[in-house]
Amino acid sequence: MAAVPISQISFERKRALVRCDFNVPLDNGRIADTSRIEATLDTIRYILSHQGAAILCSHLGRPKERAPEFSLKPVAEYLSNALGKKVALAPDCIGEFSGRMVNALAFGEALLLENLRFHPEEEANDRDFSHELARGKQVYVNDAFGTAHRAHASTVGVTRFIHERAAGFLMQRELEALRAVTEHPAHQYLLILGGAKVSDKIGVIKTMLTRVDRILIGGAMAYTFMKARGIGVGISRIEEDKIEFARELLAIAAQRQVPVVLPVDHVVATDAANEASIQTLTTIPADKMGLDIGPHTITEFIQHLSTARTIVWNGPLGFFEVPHFAQGTLKVGEAVACLNGVTSLIGGGDTAAAFIHQPWANKFTHISTGGGATLEYLEGIELPGVKALDN
Ligand code: AMP
Repeated sequence: MAAVPISQISFERKRALVRCDFNVPLDNGRIADTSRIEATLDTIRYILSHQGAAILCSHLGRPKERAPEFSLKPVAEYLSNALGKKVALAPDCIGEFSGRMVNALAFGEALLLENLRFHPEEEANDRDFSHELARGKQVYVNDAFGTAHRAHASTVGVTRFIHERAAGFLMQRELEALRAVTEHPAHQYLLILGGAKVSDKIGVIKTMLTRVDRILIGGAMAYTFMKARGIGVGISRIEEDKIEFARELLAIAAQRQVPVVLPVDHVVATDAANEASIQTLTTIPADKMGLDIGPHTITEFIQHLSTARTIVWNGPLGFFEVPHFAQGTLKVGEAVACLNGVTSLIGGGDTAAAFIHQPWANKFTHISTGGGATLEYLEGIELPGVKALDN
């Protein structure tokens, strides 16, 4: 049976281990983007208002060992403000001292455990570590969609030891949005792909080719596909060893009569930092790289949107971190957001980062918090963190 929603669980006088995704970007110890924390607040509030004790856990970054710059302390401070009550940080996620803090936690209160990845056993999905993490908790809630594609102790291992388990509100929203674009999606169905690495998206492209009516490709990825079509790309970022794959894919798409639309003009420069060299051209000179789609491509991409009823988008259409090369991503993004009667799903990671602070960002049907997890779901892979919630 599929994961139950947390609204079906009684939290009263129970201690709940809540796997959150607090893997936030830090800038000198300050949280640079709090959206991942915001996204999980309703789950935490629900547990507290139903008289449960919420023991929150997460990873942060990729620490090789315990190190202060990977501490979740700034998150505990942010949570205390957001929830209007003190959220203490336990110095470790397991062990006697933290165990005492867990047991002393009053119902209706929350505690944050220190970074799970201070223990290599977390990623190894170690049985004893999972057992320790589960100790003293009666309910397990997973709200960390962004790590649901990883079989770790906190996403899979603990479920061997906590039998009452549920999906948090964020996890439910993410899965509903993905189901909407995989089970009976409305056509025309459009896939927009961008970003740099073809290699990360091979699986998803193969699967999506059987579902969608049209694919628009921008970003550095487009240059690998252009090269496969024999078009010059100058010194643009490409994946030499994926050109053959791109060629095969274009052949399959042609066979299936799925048009693959590539850019017809480009914002180019000798390198991203050389402002004086920026030009908009239909062909890329040998000594320049494409860093964004050009205005004709933007217009063409927007025209393709008009017949769409379902849109899935993963990856920025240019080197959007530099404002000179963000226009393609933002203009097409705004056009997608402002469509009426269309289901639009924005894959997480860089695409979400490009849109999240735009005034029209809340008009998309859904912006996912998980990059890798979204791609794997779309590819048709069962996410271990979701499967582990099954009853
Ligand atoms: P990915 O992780 O494959 O989704 O790639 C995301 C990254 O691709 C972002 O950092 C973008 O800045 C980068 N990117 C997108 N388009 C280009 C481009 N034309 N040239 C270089 N980098 C790009």
